[in-house]
Amino acid sequence: MKLPALVLGIGAMVCVAGSAFALQGDADQTAAIQRLTARSEIVQALELAPDLEPGSEADLIELTEIPAPPFEEAARASRFAEMLQATGLAQASIDAVGNVIARRAGSGAGETVAIVAHLDTVFPAGTDVTVRRRGGRLYAPGIGDDTRGLVLLLNVARLLERAEIRTVADILFVGSVGEEGLGDLRGVRHLLRRGGPRVDRMIAIDGGSDSRIVNQALGSRRYRVTLTGPGGHSWGDFGLANPAHALGRVTHYFDEAAALVVNTGAPASYNVGRIGGGTSVNAVPSESWAEIDLRSVDPAQVDRLEQALRDAVTQALDEQNRARDRGESLHADFELIGDRPSGTVPLETLLVQQALAVTRFLGLRPQLGAASTDANLPIADGLPAITLGRGGTGGGAHAIEEWWAPRDAHIAVQRALLVLVASAGVVD
Ligand SMILES: [Zn+2]
Repeated sequence: MKLPALVLGIGAMVCVAGSAFALQGDADQTAAIQRLTARSEIVQALELAPDLEPGSEADLIELTEIPAPPFEEAARASRFAEMLQATGLAQASIDAVGNVIARRAGSGAGETVAIVAHLDTVFPAGTDVTVRRRGGRLYAPGIGDDTRGLVLLLNVARLLERAEIRTVADILFVGSVGEEGLGDLRGVRHLLRRGGPRVDRMIAIDGGSDSRIVNQALGSRRYRVTLTGPGGHSWGDFGLANPAHALGRVTHYFDEAAALVVNTGAPASYNVGRIGGGTSVNAVPSESWAEIDLRSVDPAQVDRLEQALRDAVTQALDEQNRARDRGESLHADFELIGDRPSGTVPLETLLVQQALAVTRFLGLRPQLGAASTDANLPIADGLPAITLGRGGTGGGAHAIEEWWAPRDAHIAVQRALLVLVASAGVVD
């Protein structure tokens, strides 16, 4: 069996230290992974993994060149469904929101492990998504995040088929819609709906590291705050309550209070990302707005940040309304434009321990981390879920200059396959 050389993971995720004992891992799981990887069909799959990489580059290029802007993933979904089915899966279908779903039946009583990569990119319609090759790298928007994740799913499905691995639990292959931005995880939200297909555990494939195991969901809540008032002429109506002036106070008070929240407790961040409104330099605006992003791995921290924002708006409006000479008072509206829950899968959880043991088996030093991915929803629902890397090396995620290169790309496929099979159980 080919054992990979050590690969350094590069990523923008937050590293979170686990206790030395826990990261050492559970001796039982280390032994279980050793038994699993001694089985002939698993040895065969691990040996085949590097051979699949050169051929799957064509899949990566083809899928990358099918644009998949937020809310417009349908064309890529239908091609990905065909590709999944061609790996030997009985049937790949597209659900009501556009997720691609293919089930590989296990021998058991219906437990299901889902493996998920997202179909959508952050790039709007009209972006040139032609793949260009320069110096061993493939350049194109979305090629790594997360199109390579989709290709990893294809290669895992191929290995299961070719090595004839029979699992106890069903495996659900999912190409999800709406992972990025205002998609707000709508694909996985639909998948995990009440009355949806059974999902007991989830492995999301996203991010670039071969050694990182994301067991913490970095949650975010996003608001658009709109301040409205009568509006009028800058000279003739001077003295009206001005929503743009109030918005400046909101930003100031929020920044002061939110900084205190971030400086105490779990890691958190906040950002006033966009502001706007008004019609002319010589008009008192009738409307001014801001879009604000609040994040933490701890839901209580996100609540505190939201409270800081609401208090800042109350105080700013109060002051601005009191300062006016005439006209109606200002009014504030909060619109929730994004909500990704946060949470943590405890280190003792079997899926996390299996991922630690597999990562060490591959000769890598595992790290735990936090990120915002499709796994946020199952984690917040209390389901065991982790995120593993997509393989290879890359850079420039969410930028037009995004690139990906196939360096040791099979390692991530081997890792995902082993964790998936360990979690699903192999039929004796
Ligand atoms: Zn992604």
